Amino acid sequence: MKKREFLQLCACGAMGALTHKPVPAGLRAELNALASSHPVDDELWKWSKEALFVEQTPDGVHCLKCPNSCTIPAGGTGLCRNRVNVRGKLYSIAYGNPCAVHVDPIEKKPLFHFLPSTRAFSIAAAGCNLSCLNCQNWQISQVSPKETDNEDLMPRAVVDAARRSASASIAYTYSEPTTFYEYAYDTAEIARREGIRNVWKSNGYIEEAPLRKLCRVIDAANIDLKSFDEGIYGRLNAGSLAPVLRTLRIFHDMGVWLEITNLVIPGWTDDLAMIGKMCAWLCSNGLDTAPLHFSRFVPLYKLNQLPPTPVKKLEEAHAVALKEGMKYVYIGNVPGHSAEHTYCHHCKKLIVERRGYAILQNRMKKSCCEFCGEPIPGRWQM
Ligand code: SF4
Repeated sequence: MKKREFLQLCACGAMGALTHKPVPAGLRAELNALASSHPVDDELWKWSKEALFVEQTPDGVHCLKCPNSCTIPAGGTGLCRNRVNVRGKLYSIAYGNPCAVHVDPIEKKPLFHFLPSTRAFSIAAAGCNLSCLNCQNWQISQVSPKETDNEDLMPRAVVDAARRSASASIAYTYSEPTTFYEYAYDTAEIARREGIRNVWKSNGYIEEAPLRKLCRVIDAANIDLKSFDEGIYGRLNAGSLAPVLRTLRIFHDMGVWLEITNLVIPGWTDDLAMIGKMCAWLCSNGLDTAPLHFSRFVPLYKLNQLPPTPVKKLEEAHAVALKEGMKYVYIGNVPGHSAEHTYCHHCKKLIVERRGYAILQNRMKKSCCEFCGEPIPGRWQM
């Protein structure tokens, strides 16, 4: 879809759904004081929403949304750059102002066992709670919503635009949706009521209470499991592993369809022994049937000097995962590779043939292998 067509699509739904709220008297000066590079005015206030999951402390508002656990003094901003403390209240300033809006194939998330060949209406607001050296979306993840070009798309308008684009789902993606949680949650609630599915593409760095609430409205998630080593998580991502593992378990336990992406970065996350331990952990936690996507790294951002992942290394990781007991293992970012396809884990026949994001043939019969009748885990039908 061309950008102009896309904006027209969004615009017709947005009209009438916007809430133009002026800055309350007396707050303008304080909001302006929070703006570092861009003026804060009615525009910023319009995109604000009081944050969920906070507690008051003597030092400021404690944000309980993610393991960064920021305590934000009056006038301060959280590490994710889109939560600000105004007069002792925490506001998300990433509400209804997505900086990226696209209609994607669901396979791009990647989700291979969830409504194949359907469209996902995909949105992101600026901000992230990690700082990965290899971030592929750093222009929108490592900045505040004040620094991006944003669309005007409140939750009602997102759902309307998704419907007009014939999307089966809405994906919260590209940056980190945990940091625009309020916007995503309100949108997902409306979508759920109206029969549109919700997809969470995330780093999994979220606290337990907001995650459990989120599971009520999310149908499928793809979580980046960036490595299986606390030290690497600290140095590469400015985060930690344990909360991400907890997230995987909770999504699985709460019945959300889950797929996992592991980006194999040369010299950082390509150790086969570590990959083996990661797969053993997944199998011993009931996640052996969760599709695992080994994704090829390409030089980016602060790791621009590294080479792309050798395809052979991805194939070795793939073999390790199968040996450990993972049932559905894929190689991503290598178009035309045979590990893009789905093979029945029972009879081993090819049942979904792909090239990139395109499905070339689908030999599923309802939710089963057409050849042997084995049920294939996933959500194959609306
Ligand atoms: S969501 Fe943002 S403000 Fe809240 S704890 Fe995480 S990084 Fe800090």
